[in-house]
Amino acid sequence: MFAALLLATASCGNSDNNAKTPKPKPPATKPAAPAQPTPMMKGSGSFTDADYKRRTAELRKLIAAKAPGSTFNFVVQKPFIVIGDEAPARVEQRAISTVKWAVDRLKSAYFAKDPKHILSVWLFKDKASYRKHTKALFDDDPGTPYGYYSSAERALIMNIATGGGTLVHEIVHPFIEANFEDCPSWFNEGLGSLYEQSSSRAGKIVGLTNWRLAGLQRAIRKNEVPSFKTLTSTTSRQFYNQDPGTNYSQSRYLLYYLQEKGLLRSYYKQFVANVKTDPTGYATLQKVLGRKDMAAFKLDWQRYVLKLRFGG
Ligand SMILES: [Zn+2]
Repeated sequence: MFAALLLATASCGNSDNNAKTPKPKPPATKPAAPAQPTPMMKGSGSFTDADYKRRTAELRKLIAAKAPGSTFNFVVQKPFIVIGDEAPARVEQRAISTVKWAVDRLKSAYFAKDPKHILSVWLFKDKASYRKHTKALFDDDPGTPYGYYSSAERALIMNIATGGGTLVHEIVHPFIEANFEDCPSWFNEGLGSLYEQSSSRAGKIVGLTNWRLAGLQRAIRKNEVPSFKTLTSTTSRQFYNQDPGTNYSQSRYLLYYLQEKGLLRSYYKQFVANVKTDPTGYATLQKVLGRKDMAAFKLDWQRYVLKLRFGG
């Protein structure tokens, strides 16, 4: 029994007004395919040890050039390279107890393909290091104090002092990118945020209730939560920039509900299979739930969510 309770504080959820905070599937990553394949462009999961060495050398060069006074420890934890400025044993421990732990379980639950590139996972030891190095290494000034995924930098970038939950959340995004190309933001963020507080149940990863519950319960009591039709039809811009305050939590607790009813994995598989004809996942949701009347379902779901508890 793995005793991992991956404590979360928050996620890339406050990406709203930060143009530099990469979104899960920014269009910028798509047209980037160069005419000539490079080792980084090989098929998922086909990277050799030499590819990891080459990428590690590139990253060491980047540090030497942009943050010459800083010392980082490297751990190759496939399909990632984990880089941290905590003590070597601590970086190693995080690579195993958080990164490997989550990757193994997420892959067995959902993802056949690894990310298309060798991604680096930067674990900055505290807020000062996070601020200093996001600027120095990536010329970034992130809006989130916790961490984010940068598709452009091929990096997950964390202030690890805020906990491992955000890291698990962000790990979901490059796997979605590699396995569910047309995934809408609501599902991408719902799944990421589901696992920002997670544990193992019978060897499988499960999301637990977390800090996002209270705000959702408040919105439910005020009758302010949009319909699932509205939520699932949001574009990425609407999801991130026109969030009524419940987009993440509504998505998260819809997926939590499906998880607890034993429907989440089946929903994911059917959503991926049918995304061309049902790009929002709404019809597939109705099918998996066996519900035609989604207004009635929403009332049932709201009652369910109001009974959930977090932290006591
Ligand atoms: Zn996210």
